[in-house]
Amino acid sequence: MNILIKNVHVITGNMNNMYTGIMNIAIKKDTIYYIGNEIPPGFKAERIIEGREMIAMPGLVNAHTHSTMVLMRNASDDLPLERWLNESILPKEKKLTKDIIRKGSMLGMAEMIKSGTTTFLDMYLEMETITEAVIETGMRANISYGLQTCDRLFQGTEFAAKYCSDFKRKYDNANNGKIKTSIEVHSVYLCDEELLRANAKLSREINSPVHIHLHETRIEVETSKLKYGRSPIKECLKAGIFDVPAIAAHTIWLDDEDMQILKDHHVTPVHNPSSNLKLASGIARVPDMIKMGIDVAIGTDGAASNNNMDMFEEMHLTSLIHKGVKLDATSVNASQTIHMATINGAKALGFQKIGMLEVGMKADIILVNTTGLNNTPLNNPVSAIVYSTRGNDVDTVICNGDILMEGRELKTIDEEKVKFEANAAAKQLLES
Ligand SMILES: [Zn+2]
Repeated sequence: MNILIKNVHVITGNMNNMYTGIMNIAIKKDTIYYIGNEIPPGFKAERIIEGREMIAMPGLVNAHTHSTMVLMRNASDDLPLERWLNESILPKEKKLTKDIIRKGSMLGMAEMIKSGTTTFLDMYLEMETITEAVIETGMRANISYGLQTCDRLFQGTEFAAKYCSDFKRKYDNANNGKIKTSIEVHSVYLCDEELLRANAKLSREINSPVHIHLHETRIEVETSKLKYGRSPIKECLKAGIFDVPAIAAHTIWLDDEDMQILKDHHVTPVHNPSSNLKLASGIARVPDMIKMGIDVAIGTDGAASNNNMDMFEEMHLTSLIHKGVKLDATSVNASQTIHMATINGAKALGFQKIGMLEVGMKADIILVNTTGLNNTPLNNPVSAIVYSTRGNDVDTVICNGDILMEGRELKTIDEEKVKFEANAAAKQLLES
Protein backbone atom coordinates (compact mmCIF):
# COMPACT_ATOMS: atom_id res chain seq x y z
CA MET A 1 0.00 0.00 0.00
CA ASN A 2 1.20 3.54 -0.71
CA ILE A 3 0.86 5.83 2.29
CA LEU A 4 1.33 9.59 2.59
CA ILE A 5 1.96 11.07 6.04
CA LYS A 6 1.40 14.82 5.85
CA ASN A 7 2.73 17.74 7.90
CA VAL A 8 4.57 15.68 10.48
CA HIS A 9 7.60 16.58 12.65
CA VAL A 10 10.22 14.21 11.22
CA ILE A 11 13.13 13.11 13.42
CA THR A 12 16.03 11.85 11.41
CA GLY A 13 19.83 11.81 11.41
CA ASN A 14 22.28 10.27 13.84
CA MET A 15 23.71 11.05 17.26
CA ASN A 16 25.99 13.77 15.91
CA ASN A 17 23.37 15.49 13.86
CA MET A 18 19.79 14.67 14.77
CA TYR A 19 17.37 17.14 13.25
CA THR A 20 13.68 17.73 12.78
CA GLY A 21 11.38 19.58 10.48
CA ILE A 22 7.74 19.54 9.48
CA MET A 23 7.58 17.48 6.30
CA ASN A 24 5.62 14.90 4.32
CA ILE A 25 6.65 11.25 4.16
CA ALA A 26 5.65 9.11 1.18
CA ILE A 27 5.78 5.33 1.57
CA LYS A 28 5.77 3.13 -1.51
CA LYS A 29 4.91 -0.44 -0.51
CA ASP A 30 7.55 -1.33 2.14
CA THR A 31 10.00 1.52 1.51
CA ILE A 32 10.34 5.23 2.32
CA TYR A 33 10.02 6.84 -1.11
CA TYR A 34 10.17 10.53 -0.24
CA ILE A 35 10.66 12.89 2.70
CA GLY A 36 10.28 16.59 2.07
CA ASN A 37 8.00 19.57 1.79
CA GLU A 38 6.32 18.58 -1.47
CA ILE A 39 4.11 15.74 -2.52
CA PRO A 40 6.19 13.80 -5.05
CA PRO A 41 4.78 14.21 -8.55
CA GLY A 42 2.84 11.19 -9.74
CA PHE A 43 2.73 9.63 -6.27
CA LYS A 44 -0.67 8.06 -5.68
CA ALA A 45 -1.43 7.50 -2.01
CA GLU A 46 -3.96 4.85 -1.11
CA ARG A 47 -3.92 6.12 2.47
CA ILE A 48 -3.32 9.64 3.72
CA ILE A 49 -2.45 10.08 7.39
CA GLU A 50 -2.63 13.59 8.82
CA GLY A 51 0.56 14.02 10.84
CA ARG A 52 -0.14 17.46 12.30
CA GLU A 53 0.86 17.58 16.01
CA MET A 54 2.65 14.24 15.63
CA ILE A 55 6.33 13.32 15.65
CA ALA A 56 7.48 10.72 13.11
CA MET A 57 10.53 8.73 14.14
CA PRO A 58 12.00 5.32 13.35
CA GLY A 59 10.27 2.37 15.02
CA LEU A 60 12.09 1.55 18.25
CA VAL A 61 14.35 -1.49 18.44
CA ASN A 62 14.14 -3.44 21.69
CA ALA A 63 17.53 -5.14 21.50
CA HIS A 64 17.11 -7.59 24.37
CA THR A 65 13.92 -9.10 25.70
CA HIS A 66 12.06 -12.27 26.56
CA SER A 67 8.58 -11.36 25.30
CA THR A 68 6.77 -14.25 27.00
CA MET A 69 7.91 -13.12 30.46
CA VAL A 70 5.16 -10.48 30.56
CA LEU A 71 3.11 -13.31 32.10
CA MET A 72 5.35 -13.09 35.19
CA ARG A 73 5.22 -9.31 35.61
CA ASN A 74 4.64 -8.12 39.17
CA ALA A 75 4.99 -11.70 40.40
CA SER A 76 8.58 -11.71 41.78
CA ASP A 77 9.71 -8.33 42.91
CA ASP A 78 12.22 -6.81 45.32
CA LEU A 79 14.65 -9.72 45.02
CA PRO A 80 18.30 -9.77 43.89
CA LEU A 81 18.97 -11.51 40.58
CA GLU A 82 20.24 -14.85 41.91
CA ARG A 83 17.23 -15.36 44.23
CA TRP A 84 14.81 -13.91 41.64
CA LEU A 85 16.07 -16.34 38.99
CA ASN A 86 16.67 -19.51 41.00
CA GLU A 87 13.87 -19.35 43.55
CA SER A 88 11.13 -17.70 41.52
CA ILE A 89 11.59 -17.66 37.74
CA LEU A 90 13.25 -20.99 36.90
CA PRO A 91 10.71 -23.11 38.90
CA LYS A 92 7.81 -21.31 37.13
CA GLU A 93 9.43 -21.82 33.74
CA LYS A 94 9.34 -25.59 34.28
CA LYS A 95 5.56 -25.33 33.84
CA LEU A 96 5.72 -23.54 30.49
CA THR A 97 3.94 -25.14 27.56
CA LYS A 98 3.86 -24.09 23.91
CA ASP A 99 0.36 -22.72 24.44
CA ILE A 100 1.39 -20.60 27.43
CA ILE A 101 4.47 -19.33 25.59
CA ARG A 102 2.42 -18.33 22.56
CA LYS A 103 -0.11 -16.43 24.65
CA GLY A 104 2.61 -14.68 26.64
CA SER A 105 4.58 -13.61 23.59
CA MET A 106 1.42 -12.26 21.91
CA LEU A 107 0.79 -10.11 24.99
CA GLY A 108 4.42 -8.95 24.97
CA MET A 109 4.21 -8.00 21.30
CA ALA A 110 0.90 -6.18 21.75
CA GLU A 111 2.50 -4.11 24.50
CA MET A 112 5.60 -3.45 22.39
CA ILE A 113 3.60 -2.23 19.38
CA LYS A 114 1.43 -0.01 21.59
CA SER A 115 4.56 1.66 22.96
CA GLY A 116 6.29 2.17 19.61
CA THR A 117 8.57 -0.85 19.22
CA THR A 118 8.60 -2.35 15.72
CA THR A 119 11.64 -4.64 16.09
CA PHE A 120 12.95 -6.81 18.89
CA LEU A 121 15.48 -9.47 19.80
CA ASP A 122 13.88 -12.37 21.64
CA MET A 123 15.47 -15.13 23.67
CA TYR A 124 13.35 -17.81 25.29
CA LEU A 125 12.04 -21.36 24.90
CA GLU A 126 9.94 -22.88 22.07
CA MET A 127 11.20 -20.32 19.59
CA GLU A 128 9.28 -21.80 16.64
CA THR A 129 6.05 -21.03 18.47
CA ILE A 130 7.23 -17.47 19.17
CA THR A 131 8.41 -16.97 15.57
CA GLU A 132 5.01 -18.00 14.22
CA ALA A 133 3.39 -15.50 16.60
CA VAL A 134 5.77 -12.73 15.42
CA ILE A 135 4.84 -13.45 11.81
CA GLU A 136 1.15 -13.18 12.74
CA THR A 137 1.63 -9.72 14.30
CA GLY A 138 3.68 -8.31 11.40
CA MET A 139 6.53 -7.19 13.67
CA ARG A 140 10.20 -7.45 12.79
CA ALA A 141 12.32 -9.65 15.05
CA ASN A 142 15.55 -11.48 15.44
CA ILE A 143 14.82 -14.78 17.16
CA SER A 144 17.50 -16.48 19.25
CA TYR A 145 17.60 -20.21 19.69
CA GLY A 146 20.49 -22.37 20.74
CA LEU A 147 21.90 -25.65 21.87
CA GLN A 148 20.86 -24.99 25.45
CA THR A 149 17.21 -24.48 24.55
CA CYS A 150 17.21 -27.36 22.13
CA ASP A 151 18.90 -29.72 24.57
CA ARG A 152 15.67 -29.46 26.54
CA LEU A 153 13.96 -31.01 23.54
CA PHE A 154 16.51 -33.44 22.21
CA GLN A 155 18.94 -34.27 25.00
CA GLY A 156 22.02 -34.21 22.82
CA THR A 157 24.27 -31.62 21.24
CA GLU A 158 24.42 -33.25 17.82
CA PHE A 159 20.64 -33.38 17.36
CA ALA A 160 20.31 -29.90 18.81
CA ALA A 161 22.87 -28.54 16.31
CA LYS A 162 20.89 -30.03 13.45
CA TYR A 163 17.69 -28.53 14.85
CA CYS A 164 19.39 -25.13 15.04
CA SER A 165 20.61 -25.16 11.45
CA ASP A 166 17.16 -26.33 10.27
CA PHE A 167 15.58 -23.48 12.26
CA LYS A 168 17.84 -20.96 10.58
CA ARG A 169 17.13 -22.40 7.13
CA LYS A 170 13.39 -22.24 7.76
CA TYR A 171 13.11 -18.79 9.32
CA ASP A 172 16.08 -16.60 8.39
CA ASN A 173 14.67 -13.78 6.20
CA ALA A 174 11.14 -15.22 6.44
CA ASN A 175 8.06 -12.97 6.18
CA ASN A 176 9.54 -10.56 3.62
CA GLY A 177 12.88 -10.38 5.42
CA LYS A 178 11.29 -9.34 8.72
CA ILE A 179 12.58 -12.40 10.59
CA LYS A 180 16.26 -12.98 11.32
CA THR A 181 17.78 -15.59 13.58
CA SER A 182 20.67 -15.79 16.02
CA ILE A 183 22.24 -18.34 18.34
CA GLU A 184 21.24 -18.08 21.99
CA VAL A 185 23.93 -18.69 24.55
CA HIS A 186 22.06 -17.89 27.74
CA SER A 187 25.12 -16.94 29.77
CA VAL A 188 28.50 -18.18 30.91
CA TYR A 189 26.98 -19.04 34.30
CA LEU A 190 24.33 -21.35 32.80
CA CYS A 191 26.68 -22.94 30.22
CA ASP A 192 29.69 -25.14 30.85
CA GLU A 193 32.88 -24.75 28.81
CA GLU A 194 31.90 -27.53 26.42
CA LEU A 195 28.51 -25.98 25.65
CA LEU A 196 30.09 -22.55 25.11
CA ARG A 197 32.50 -24.05 22.59
CA ALA A 198 29.76 -26.05 20.88
CA ASN A 199 27.62 -22.92 20.48
CA ALA A 200 30.60 -20.96 19.14
CA LYS A 201 31.36 -23.72 16.63
CA LEU A 202 27.75 -23.87 15.51
CA SER A 203 27.46 -20.09 15.11
CA ARG A 204 30.57 -20.11 12.90
CA GLU A 205 29.36 -23.06 10.85
CA ILE A 206 25.95 -21.60 10.11
CA ASN A 207 27.14 -17.98 10.15
CA SER A 208 24.72 -16.75 12.82
CA PRO A 209 25.25 -13.96 15.33
CA VAL A 210 25.28 -14.87 19.03
CA HIS A 211 22.93 -13.42 21.68
CA ILE A 212 24.16 -13.77 25.29
CA HIS A 213 23.72 -12.34 28.81
CA LEU A 214 27.12 -11.07 29.97
CA HIS A 215 28.51 -9.45 33.12
CA GLU A 216 25.08 -8.77 34.58
CA THR A 217 26.12 -9.06 38.23
CA ARG A 218 29.30 -8.78 40.21
CA ILE A 219 28.75 -12.34 41.50
CA GLU A 220 28.63 -13.63 37.90
CA VAL A 221 32.03 -12.08 37.15
CA GLU A 222 33.61 -13.22 40.43
CA THR A 223 32.30 -16.78 40.02
CA SER A 224 33.71 -16.98 36.49
CA LYS A 225 37.09 -15.77 37.72
CA LEU A 226 37.11 -18.49 40.39
CA LYS A 227 35.88 -21.22 38.01
CA TYR A 228 37.78 -20.35 34.82
CA GLY A 229 40.44 -17.93 36.04
CA ARG A 230 39.03 -15.16 33.87
CA SER A 231 35.98 -12.90 33.41
CA PRO A 232 32.96 -14.19 31.42
CA ILE A 233 33.95 -11.89 28.52
CA LYS A 234 37.46 -13.35 28.44
CA GLU A 235 36.01 -16.85 28.70
CA CYS A 236 33.73 -16.11 25.71
CA LEU A 237 36.71 -14.79 23.77
CA LYS A 238 38.64 -17.98 24.52
CA ALA A 239 35.68 -20.19 23.56
CA GLY A 240 35.25 -18.42 20.20
CA ILE A 241 31.89 -16.81 20.99
CA PHE A 242 33.11 -13.48 19.55
CA ASP A 243 34.26 -15.03 16.25
CA VAL A 244 30.84 -14.01 14.90
CA PRO A 245 28.95 -10.74 15.58
CA ALA A 246 27.63 -10.88 19.14
CA ILE A 247 24.92 -9.05 21.06
CA ALA A 248 25.56 -8.98 24.80
CA ALA A 249 22.83 -7.99 27.23
CA HIS A 250 23.69 -5.99 30.38
CA THR A 251 27.54 -5.79 30.32
CA ILE A 252 27.67 -4.00 33.67
CA TRP A 253 30.73 -5.14 35.58
CA LEU A 254 33.41 -4.43 32.97
CA ASP A 255 37.04 -3.54 33.47
CA ASP A 256 38.94 -1.68 30.75
CA GLU A 257 40.27 -4.91 29.23
CA ASP A 258 36.74 -6.33 28.97
CA MET A 259 35.60 -3.14 27.23
CA GLN A 260 38.52 -3.29 24.80
CA ILE A 261 37.55 -6.89 23.90
CA LEU A 262 33.96 -5.77 23.20
CA LYS A 263 35.26 -2.98 20.98
CA ASP A 264 37.84 -5.07 19.13
CA HIS A 265 35.30 -7.80 18.36
CA HIS A 266 32.43 -5.47 17.46
CA VAL A 267 30.20 -6.85 20.21
CA THR A 268 27.03 -4.78 20.73
CA PRO A 269 26.30 -4.30 24.44
CA VAL A 270 22.60 -3.87 25.23
CA HIS A 271 21.77 -1.51 28.07
CA ASN A 272 18.72 -2.58 30.15
CA PRO A 273 18.45 0.15 32.78
CA SER A 274 15.09 -0.77 34.37
CA SER A 275 15.99 -4.42 34.84
CA ASN A 276 19.49 -3.60 36.08
CA LEU A 277 18.20 -1.09 38.62
CA LYS A 278 15.31 -3.28 39.78
CA LEU A 279 17.42 -6.39 40.33
CA ALA A 280 20.13 -4.20 41.90
CA SER A 281 22.60 -5.55 39.36
CA GLY A 282 24.36 -2.23 38.90
CA ILE A 283 24.73 0.48 36.27
CA ALA A 284 26.57 -0.16 33.00
CA ARG A 285 29.46 2.12 31.98
CA VAL A 286 27.49 3.44 29.00
CA PRO A 287 29.21 6.87 28.70
CA ASP A 288 32.65 5.17 28.79
CA MET A 289 31.54 2.70 26.12
CA ILE A 290 30.21 5.51 23.90
CA LYS A 291 33.47 7.41 24.36
CA MET A 292 35.41 4.33 23.22
CA GLY A 293 33.29 4.13 20.06
CA ILE A 294 31.33 1.03 21.13
CA ASP A 295 27.82 0.95 19.64
CA VAL A 296 25.49 0.43 22.61
CA ALA A 297 21.85 -0.59 22.02
CA ILE A 298 18.89 -0.49 24.45
CA GLY A 299 16.44 -3.19 25.59
CA THR A 300 13.70 -3.74 28.12
CA ASP A 301 14.81 -7.25 29.18
CA GLY A 302 11.85 -9.44 30.21
CA ALA A 303 8.88 -7.87 31.98
CA ALA A 304 9.45 -10.10 35.02
CA SER A 305 12.32 -7.75 35.88
CA ASN A 306 11.18 -4.42 34.41
CA ASN A 307 8.02 -4.69 34.70
CA ASN A 308 6.87 -3.43 31.30
CA MET A 309 7.99 -3.38 27.67
CA ASP A 310 8.04 0.39 27.19
CA MET A 311 11.17 1.51 25.32
CA PHE A 312 10.35 5.17 26.02
CA GLU A 313 10.90 4.45 29.70
CA GLU A 314 14.23 2.77 28.88
CA MET A 315 15.32 5.78 26.80
CA HIS A 316 14.31 8.11 29.61
CA LEU A 317 16.30 6.14 32.20
CA THR A 318 19.28 5.70 29.87
CA SER A 319 19.57 9.41 29.45
CA LEU A 320 19.05 10.24 33.14
CA ILE A 321 20.96 7.71 35.20
CA HIS A 322 24.35 8.32 33.60
CA LYS A 323 24.04 12.06 34.15
CA GLY A 324 23.50 11.26 37.83
CA VAL A 325 26.31 8.72 38.06
CA LYS A 326 28.83 10.90 36.22
CA LEU A 327 27.63 14.17 37.77
CA ASP A 328 27.63 15.42 34.18
CA ALA A 329 24.42 16.79 32.63
CA THR A 330 25.91 16.48 29.12
CA SER A 331 26.37 12.72 29.49
CA VAL A 332 24.24 10.51 27.15
CA ASN A 333 22.23 13.27 25.49
CA ALA A 334 18.84 12.91 23.78
CA SER A 335 20.25 12.37 20.26
CA GLN A 336 22.67 9.69 21.49
CA THR A 337 19.83 7.96 23.32
CA ILE A 338 17.55 7.87 20.27
CA HIS A 339 20.49 6.65 18.17
CA MET A 340 21.01 3.74 20.58
CA ALA A 341 17.30 2.81 20.61
CA THR A 342 17.06 2.81 16.82
CA ILE A 343 20.18 2.70 14.62
CA ASN A 344 22.46 0.71 16.94
CA GLY A 345 19.77 -1.85 17.74
CA ALA A 346 18.86 -2.26 14.07
CA LYS A 347 22.47 -2.88 13.04
CA ALA A 348 23.11 -5.34 15.86
CA LEU A 349 20.03 -7.37 14.96
CA GLY A 350 21.15 -7.59 11.33
CA PHE A 351 18.58 -5.21 9.83
CA GLN A 352 20.60 -2.78 7.74
CA LYS A 353 17.67 -0.93 6.19
CA ILE A 354 15.90 0.30 9.31
CA GLY A 355 16.67 2.62 12.22
CA MET A 356 16.55 5.92 10.31
CA LEU A 357 13.90 7.82 8.42
CA GLU A 358 15.60 8.26 5.06
CA VAL A 359 14.63 7.67 1.46
CA GLY A 360 15.34 4.07 0.52
CA MET A 361 15.04 2.75 4.08
CA LYS A 362 12.27 0.29 5.00
CA ALA A 363 9.12 2.01 6.24
CA ASP A 364 9.34 1.29 9.99
CA ILE A 365 7.82 4.50 11.32
CA ILE A 366 6.01 5.47 14.50
CA LEU A 367 3.89 8.56 15.01
CA VAL A 368 3.88 10.07 18.49
CA ASN A 369 0.93 12.23 19.48
CA THR A 370 2.24 15.44 21.02
CA THR A 371 -1.08 16.90 22.15
CA GLY A 372 -0.87 15.43 25.67
CA LEU A 373 -0.27 17.65 28.66
CA ASN A 374 3.16 16.04 29.09
CA ASN A 375 4.24 17.30 25.64
CA THR A 376 2.68 20.77 25.78
CA PRO A 377 4.37 22.97 24.70
CA LEU A 378 6.46 20.74 22.44
CA ASN A 379 9.42 23.12 21.95
CA ASN A 380 11.98 20.51 20.93
CA PRO A 381 10.84 17.20 19.37
CA VAL A 382 14.16 15.38 19.99
CA SER A 383 14.09 16.31 23.68
CA ALA A 384 10.38 15.45 23.87
CA ILE A 385 11.00 11.88 22.71
CA VAL A 386 13.55 11.17 25.45
CA TYR A 387 12.48 13.40 28.33
CA SER A 388 8.69 13.85 28.26
CA THR A 389 7.05 11.21 26.02
CA ARG A 390 5.55 7.99 27.35
CA GLY A 391 4.79 4.82 25.44
CA ASN A 392 1.06 5.62 25.65
CA ASP A 393 1.64 8.69 23.47
CA VAL A 394 2.39 6.52 20.43
CA ASP A 395 -0.55 6.85 18.04
CA THR A 396 0.41 4.97 14.87
CA VAL A 397 2.91 2.18 14.15
CA ILE A 398 4.02 1.17 10.67
CA CYS A 399 6.35 -1.78 10.09
CA ASN A 400 7.67 -2.60 6.60
CA GLY A 401 4.94 -0.38 5.16
CA ASP A 402 2.14 -2.21 7.00
CA ILE A 403 0.04 -0.38 9.58
CA LEU A 404 0.19 -2.35 12.86
CA MET A 405 -1.59 0.32 14.93
CA GLU A 406 -3.54 3.45 14.08
CA GLY A 407 -5.26 5.80 16.51
CA ARG A 408 -3.99 3.42 19.26
CA GLU A 409 -6.01 0.56 17.78
CA LEU A 410 -4.01 -2.58 17.04
CA LYS A 411 -4.62 -3.82 13.50
CA THR A 412 -3.02 -7.27 13.54
CA ILE A 413 -3.79 -8.28 17.13
CA ASP A 414 -7.14 -8.67 18.88
CA GLU A 415 -6.16 -6.81 22.06
CA GLU A 416 -9.05 -7.96 24.24
CA LYS A 417 -8.60 -11.60 23.24
CA VAL A 418 -4.85 -11.43 23.87
CA LYS A 419 -5.42 -9.97 27.35
CA PHE A 420 -8.06 -12.57 28.21
CA GLU A 421 -5.87 -15.47 27.07
CA ALA A 422 -2.79 -14.07 28.80
CA ASN A 423 -4.65 -13.77 32.11
CA ALA A 424 -5.69 -17.43 31.85
CA ALA A 425 -2.14 -18.49 30.89
CA ALA A 426 -0.62 -16.53 33.78
CA LYS A 427 -3.00 -18.24 36.18
CA GLN A 428 -1.83 -21.64 34.93
CA LEU A 429 1.78 -20.61 35.31
CA LEU A 430 1.69 -18.82 38.65
CA GLU A 431 -0.79 -20.86 40.65
CA SER A 432 0.66 -24.04 42.09
ZN1 LIG B 1 17.56 -11.14 29.66
